[in-house]
Amino acid sequence: MKKTTRDEWRVMVTLKPRRPADLGLTGIDDRAEFIAPPGPITVAVLPRRLGSFGFASMSDGLVSRDIEGDYRRRCEEIVAELKSRPQIEEMSVTCTETHTCSHCGSGWQELTAEEAADYSTSYDEHSVEGEPACCEAAIDEFRTERGIPLLARDGAA
Ligand SMILES: [Zn+2]
Repeated sequence: MKKTTRDEWRVMVTLKPRRPADLGLTGIDDRAEFIAPPGPITVAVLPRRLGSFGFASMSDGLVSRDIEGDYRRRCEEIVAELKSRPQIEEMSVTCTETHTCSHCGSGWQELTAEEAADYSTSYDEHSVEGEPACCEAAIDEFRTERGIPLLARDGAA
């Protein structure tokens, strides 16, 4: 079965600074008024690790039963806090999704419609689009769920 994990949570922040102080360039207000960025400035704001408390640090699993959800909420809190800042043009919460096979642990891959229809890349005549491409356990599971005949095996009756 396809297992999806989400990590590397971050808030993408696009800045549109107008004044030097918008970028922390303070102390020059009496001599400078505007700044001119060459284009949109987008930075990734990374949430503090769940298990990091400054005075102590432990694994995320010790402090959270829903690590993905807690990181997402932490990012949403960052967005809520920064929302009213005038130098911010746009924000979005994003993460990296990784799909792995629950049986063999390798990266999840599926046959495309072309591969399933092509004799040289399909497993047998029953292959369909979306069939896993990593291990027999995943293929068996996929086929069992859909009532597709299982792969013929050497020596099997
Ligand atoms: Zn697999």
